[in-house]
Formats: sequence, structure tokens, C-alpha cells
Amino acid sequence: MLEQGIHLISTDEMTGIQALERLFPNKRIKPKQVEKIEFEYERHGTLSLIANWDVARGKVVSPSIGPTRTEQDFSEHIQRTIKIDEKAEWIFIVDQLNTHKSESLVKLVAESCGITIDLGRKRKEEILQSMDSRADFLSDESHRISFVYIPKHTSWLNQIKCWFSILVRRLLKRITVRSTEELSQKILNFIDYFNQHFAKPFVWKFKGFKDHKRLVDYFCQAALGNRRAGIEPSKNAVKYYQKLRKKHKRITNIREDFLQKITTLLAKTYQHILVEDLNIKGMMANHKLSDALSNLGLYRFRELLSYKQECFGFLFTIVDRWFPSSKTCSVCGNIQDMPLSERVYHCQNCGQVMDRDVNASINLESWTNNADGLSVNACGQEGAVSLG
Ligand SMILES: [Zn+2]
Repeated sequence: MLEQGIHLISTDEMTGIQALERLFPNKRIKPKQVEKIEFEYERHGTLSLIANWDVARGKVVSPSIGPTRTEQDFSEHIQRTIKIDEKAEWIFIVDQLNTHKSESLVKLVAESCGITIDLGRKRKEEILQSMDSRADFLSDESHRISFVYIPKHTSWLNQIKCWFSILVRRLLKRITVRSTEELSQKILNFIDYFNQHFAKPFVWKFKGFKDHKRLVDYFCQAALGNRRAGIEPSKNAVKYYQKLRKKHKRITNIREDFLQKITTLLAKTYQHILVEDLNIKGMMANHKLSDALSNLGLYRFRELLSYKQECFGFLFTIVDRWFPSSKTCSVCGNIQDMPLSERVYHCQNCGQVMDRDVNASINLESWTNNADGLSVNACGQEGAVSLG
């Protein structure tokens, strides 16, 4: 673009630059020591700097320093900048600030590009109507002067910001001035000095993250920290995980409470409890079931029942896991396929209709009767618990 005579300019404001007078001179730097900067100071007001970074030449051109950064300030700044090369094409890279889309800027561009169409009135009609319509006009590439608006949260892509950090590090952190005039003179001197000795385009080393995972890793590390690399987690992340931990703890407590109460109730009520041994591992492999199953705490349920049998003295039997409790008809013994979605057992042989779980528990009951020869025990009470 440099060869075509187009000026590619990255423009932004730096506001609130304080004119500080440090009360005591800085101590001289000793070898192997960080420079100590006097911390007591007197304020002498603030300045705003509007600067242009010539991307191709690596120079700062036509900086404006003033007490404010209004719409007027910005358009005057642009006017002064384009006067440097009145015939050339100018492209300004700016952020989404409202003063970068102002009425006076539209008028300035129209005048300098010799555009004579009706611009309308502000907040009423045509180009001047709204911020968006003005931005559309200003970013029109066919004009001699056009603006490129970078998206929100990407201001670090604007190269002038890199130069601002140089300005802060090399100059603003160290100087002591007695007035804003002195400060503005020092900044201008620094810009001259920089342009003479250090002018060169930024080498853009950051080429983006290779893939999505890298990006996620980067932000995770920023949020969660990395102990090995000595990166502290962010305070909001710590707060969030503390809250989350409390919620998990509460859920665990509710589950434990439920399991304790229900097993005690069962142990008190029934003399004989049959539990079907389920192939939990196999069911956990089914990812549709695994979440619901792990929330139930089935293993804990069995564990609680088996230790409570000692206190309450009931008979506890675990039924073989391959016993087809759900598939068998409790009336005629017919075996048919029962997918999990079918909640009611319709026997294809004898035609009986029964709830799936009730049918299964009757089958479990008869299983012991067949295998162990145990029938109804002394008290005449009998229960069967089916988890199938
Ligand atoms: Zn049947």
C-alpha cells in the first residue's frame, strides 16, 4: 500500500495522561536493582493524546495533544493529518468509539473528497441520521478517506496501542513535570526522538491460535491458573468454584439422606428383601443411562441395605444378575424382549397386562422360592424390591 501512495493509519486516543511532579528526584539506579520511582507527587492536571501510527513506515505522525477528546477534537485531528498529503488516499483504523462516527467527521470527509450529495440532518434523515448510517458512509472504500472500524474487544489489534505502551514505559512512568504544557512538550519531543531513532514497522508475531483447543487452553489458564507455571487463578473463578463445590456437597447430602431413610424404612417394614444384582458397569457404558444411574447411588443403596440387615434382622438376598426378571411373565412364564422404554408388560402368550416393575418383583419373589426352597417366612410378611 505504501507504493500505491495510500496512507494506512492506526489511530486512537490516550486519555487521562497525568502531569505529575514527583516531590523528590528518583534515586540513581544501582547495578542489579530495579529503578526506584518516587511515589509522592503533585498533580498538575491531565491531557489527552490523539496519535496516528503509520503502519507501513512505523512512525507516529501528526499527534494532537489537548485537554479533551471531543468530537471536535477528533475531526480536527483528522483534518490536520490529511493535510500532510492532500491528494493521497487515507485509511484510518479506529475503534468503535462514538466520536469516530460523528457528524463533523462525515462533513469533513464529504468536503475533502468533493462529495456534494445531500447529507441530511443529524438524528433525522439520510447519512447523518444515526451512528450506523454515518459509520457506513465513513467506511465506504471508494472515498479517498475511509475508516476501518475494528470490532469490540479487539482494540489490542490496533497497533497504535502497542506504541502507547511504549510511550508509557519509556516516558510517562519516569518523567516529572510542573505543568500540562511541559508534559505536552515532553511527549512531542519523545515522538520526534522515537521517529528519528526507532521508527520501524511492528513485526506482528502473534499469528493467532493454531486451533480452537489452544484458545480454550489459553483462557482456561487465565481463569484457573496453572500451579506448575506459577499462574494464579482469577478471583472470579475461585469464587465460582467455591459456590459450585457447595452445590455439589448439598446434592451429595440430599442423596445420602434419601438413601439412609428409604433403606431404614424398607428394613423396618419387610422381613425378606431381594435385590437384583444389576450389571451397573454395563449400564454405565450406555451414555444415555449413565448420568441418571450415577445420580441414584445404587451401590450405596445395596451397601446400606446389607449392613442394616444385621440391625433389623431381615433376610437379604441378592438375585443373580442374569435372571430375566423383567422379561418373564409372572403368570405363565413366557419370556419376551422388554426394551427399557416399555413400562407395561403385555404378555404375548397369556395376555396379562401388568406394570413392568411389579411384574419383575413378582418374578424375583418366585426366584428365591425355586432356588432356595424358601417360601413365606414365619411372620407371613414378604417383600421384594426390584431395581430392574
Ligand atoms: Zn403370560
